[in-house]
Amino acid sequence: MEDIRIGGPPCPPEVAELRERVAAFVRERVAPCEPVLDGGGPRATAELGRLRREAKAAGLWALPLPAELGGQGQPLGSYAHLAEAEGASDHGPAALGSASLLDALMLRRHGSPGVRERYLKRLVAGELRACYAMTEPGTPGTDPFLTATRAVPAADGGWRVSGRKWFASGAVGADLVTVLARTDGDPPDRDGLSLLLVPTDAPGFRLLRELPVLGAAGHAEFELDEVAVAAGHLIGERGGALGIAGERLQLGRTLRCLRWLGQARRAFDLMRERAVGRSRSRGPLAGLQLVQRHVFESLLALRSTRSLVYEAVDRLDAGLDAHVEVGLAKVAAARTLQHVADAAIQVHGAAGLGPDTPLPALFRTGRAARILDGPDELHITSVARRVLRPDPEADLPGR
Ligand SMILES: Cc1cc2nc3c(=O)[nH]c(=O)nc-3n(C[C@H](O)[C@H](O)[C@H](O)COP(=O)(O)OP(=O)(O)OC[C@H]3O[C@@H](n4cnc5c(N)ncnc54)[C@H](O)[C@@H]3O)c2cc1C
Repeated sequence: MEDIRIGGPPCPPEVAELRERVAAFVRERVAPCEPVLDGGGPRATAELGRLRREAKAAGLWALPLPAELGGQGQPLGSYAHLAEAEGASDHGPAALGSASLLDALMLRRHGSPGVRERYLKRLVAGELRACYAMTEPGTPGTDPFLTATRAVPAADGGWRVSGRKWFASGAVGADLVTVLARTDGDPPDRDGLSLLLVPTDAPGFRLLRELPVLGAAGHAEFELDEVAVAAGHLIGERGGALGIAGERLQLGRTLRCLRWLGQARRAFDLMRERAVGRSRSRGPLAGLQLVQRHVFESLLALRSTRSLVYEAVDRLDAGLDAHVEVGLAKVAAARTLQHVADAAIQVHGAAGLGPDTPLPALFRTGRAARILDGPDELHITSVARRVLRPDPEADLPGR
């Protein structure tokens, strides 16, 4: 079917050809492997490895990663359009080597010289895998000041880290995990939280179980029992965790929004095809007004969300504060993916819930999107509080 414009900025001509190649790779190579990749285990690992080799051979590896680390150095403004195409599959970023972007940028900026030297290039090359663990089973993830994981100074100048984390994406098979831990004070002190880079082969690190999300693999719970971490593996300053996490989250949430847009677009296209291609005795589903309403509402959501997401991209790209824009975009993109996938399922009837379309996976991602990287409520209240200040522009750097 002909492409429908979904609002927001057009793809810049200089990245249009690359975007088309990324979209084709995701459509033709990654999407067919989604059921295996969602299943996890050794088959998924082998399949992902094969896709990564193919992405490298196709020249599509690590597009947004800094060139000096072995990536292709696409700036955010251009990469945003590629991220939509990569993200049309939840597995696209891992298959194309862009999933390491946040860890690589964090380590480049805040890692010690030893950590940068030892891990950065290998991370970008896909020889090492990293994940990020803030959330804990025993404390609300929405309140990091309650973090119970502790890192205490050791006699050798390093740290001993103890605690439990869960829902860490990519933890199965990860070589490194960035752990949020309390190094000073007591919960709920606002200060005293630090980030430490923990090698997962260190004694005392134990993967406890995989945690499927609505049936799909990719997340895990693990325990740290007095894990020895070298002094140089502290990321940034002691007590500086939340500033670094904030940096990560602004870009991370925006990238997720772009990927969710790609997935919502995919659900929308499937809905259009089904509406036009499936006929009742009096004509195609597309002729039914209540089906047309699903299409209208979905297009409305897509168009308004894409514009919001690119407002966030533009502000981040310009180095400006983007709390409000990222908050609006994150809530809108999560809702839109859930809404459009749900509408597409409805128009498909039972087929939309079965194994023959990606719609269940798209719906699952949309549902999870409303919780991960901070649930909707957190963004709603954070944006509202900012705009309800007597002077909403006050003390927001860059405004
Ligand atoms: C698919 C997926 C992937 C994830 N990946 C990672 C990862 O890689 N690393 C990681 O560290 N974590 C990860 N998480 C965890 C995620 O970040 C947390 O689930 C999230 O921050 C919420 O924390 P919580 O689950 O402890 O919920 P809680 O903090 O217990 O909150 C529960 C509910 O209470 C309500 N609530 C909480 N605070 C407020 C408020 N201020 N105002 C109004 N209502 C509120 C909301 O409805 C919220 O959903 C992932 C989660 C999912 C689902």
